[in-house]
Amino acid sequence: MPELATKAEKILRGIPASAGVCRGTIFVLGRPQATVPRRELSPEHVPGEISRLEQALVQTRHDILEVQHKVCATMGAQEGGIFDAHLLVLEDPTLLDEVQRSMVEGRVNAEYAFHVFAEKYASALEASEDDYLRERATDLRDVTSRVLNNLLGRREDHDLKRLTEPCIVVAHDLNPSVTAQLDRKTVLGFAIDSGGRTSHTAIMARSLRIPAVVGLKSASAELESGQYALVDGFNGLIIVNPTDQTLFEYGQIIRKQVSLEEKLRDVVAKPAVTLDGQLVTLSANVEQAADAEQVRANGGEGVGLFRTEFLFIHRTTMPTEEEQFQAYDEVARRLHPDPVVIRTLDLGGDKLMSHLGLPPELNPFLGWRAIRYCLQDPAMFRAQLRAILRAGARGNVKLMYPMISGLEELDQANAFVEECKAELRAAGTPFDEDIEIGAMIEIPSAALVAESLAKRVKFFSLGTNDLIQYTLAVDRMNERVAHLYEPTHPAILRLIHATVTAGHRHGLWVGVCGEMAGDPEMVPLLLGLGVDKLSVAASLLPAVKFLIRRLKMPEARELAEFALQCESGAEIAARCHTLAREIAPSLFENQP
Ligand code: PEP
Ligand code: MG
Repeated sequence: MPELATKAEKILRGIPASAGVCRGTIFVLGRPQATVPRRELSPEHVPGEISRLEQALVQTRHDILEVQHKVCATMGAQEGGIFDAHLLVLEDPTLLDEVQRSMVEGRVNAEYAFHVFAEKYASALEASEDDYLRERATDLRDVTSRVLNNLLGRREDHDLKRLTEPCIVVAHDLNPSVTAQLDRKTVLGFAIDSGGRTSHTAIMARSLRIPAVVGLKSASAELESGQYALVDGFNGLIIVNPTDQTLFEYGQIIRKQVSLEEKLRDVVAKPAVTLDGQLVTLSANVEQAADAEQVRANGGEGVGLFRTEFLFIHRTTMPTEEEQFQAYDEVARRLHPDPVVIRTLDLGGDKLMSHLGLPPELNPFLGWRAIRYCLQDPAMFRAQLRAILRAGARGNVKLMYPMISGLEELDQANAFVEECKAELRAAGTPFDEDIEIGAMIEIPSAALVAESLAKRVKFFSLGTNDLIQYTLAVDRMNERVAHLYEPTHPAILRLIHATVTAGHRHGLWVGVCGEMAGDPEMVPLLLGLGVDKLSVAASLLPAVKFLIRRLKMPEARELAEFALQCESGAEIAARCHTLAREIAPSLFENQP
């Protein structure tokens, strides 16, 4: 191919997942490995080949333990626990027996036998409907490529720890073990084929402040490691072989980005107050104890959503009450006296089941998820409630239930809390007798019966990520329907309004902890609708605060009044877009 043709600028369009621009060399992760050589063995070579396989397995175990150790040290024990599943693959008797038998009986080389059987199992797992089993296919392939690399003396292309030069990571998807290794020093940005704006990978990119584009469909197949590219996380683009003109234009964008970051640093220690004096409680969403550090550093007032499921997934056993207590207590202690809202387990849907071995479901988002699962596993639910109540002993913890759909669930969950309180009281264990309990409003039915729910809780927190997907019947993970995922749809705004009105009538505060709260364009609308508190990824706190400090409440209310009588989501979005740019133009200089 002529040199010019290979170097032509090429733009791939996806979904903007994390703002920012970066440029550098592409590193494509998780490419199918080159063909694995097949060799016939003479009988006398079989024992030597088996011992070569054993050595490769030992080396692989060593490599995984090393990565696990590093991840535990930098990101915490929960993230490190992900690798337990990888270590288990190396001890799987069914797989190892089949591989050895084929080497002995079929007289083939170790890499070929291992590849054939591991791929047979991985394909079967991948075809499953169950998230957990599909995830195990990814684990199995991860481990297989490590074993093959060791047998073939090949560099581990998929292993981020080997990255020495900063680069742009391109992948079909980022599995948890890879995401957990992302290091801002070597990963400039990432671009992936799957996912939407509220997929877990996108949320993770924003919290790491790495420019990212998701939903690119085929970037990992179209792009090559070593190509030079630019990731535009504002517009959802990856530009390969950018021309000098493109680089010049983006150079200006990068300069503006740096100057905006300086302005944002300036507001971190200041209050989230509007120009006309309305104080807004602005807190952070966290997923593990270690995240607490980022909350104050970014100017957050406590935690509005602690997603506890990350303590439960990617490990082989349930966390004990004591382990959970340590994690919750650490966040409560570090942020005291600011409040910390701890959400009870929200497993299911896109949050992978690990060791629980739950049966596959056809519609996991409509299935055995969150509070539904907790109410049917009393031992697990009680352990968590007791840990949360105990972590509340200082008085700054609040408890929140996910996925409440109606009164009965709320009553049942509250009854569990009363039982746990009685047990702790009887044992003389310190806990918060007056802990405030709230419900997430993320299912349309809950918003519609908010009046009844309000009589039984002290606060509501709107989970707009799920509220939007359930109201509009749009899978938040599916890039093919991402264009239908519309936060300003009139139906969504009416549900938010109904929730705020019911909550306020009963003296509750109403917050938003879904991704909508972290979008500066949506903030005036939410505040205008009467939302009292916003909880966002720690990395987004400065931008949201910057906007609040330039807003006047009458503008926000006028926008909300317009939105509540407008019939078009697109028109509402356009008004939000314009108002946010009028009041805080520097926040949007790089955005369309
Ligand atoms: C939500 O649904 O908006 C929410 C905050 O919960 P999660 O994203 O964890 O489902
Ligand atoms: Mg939710």
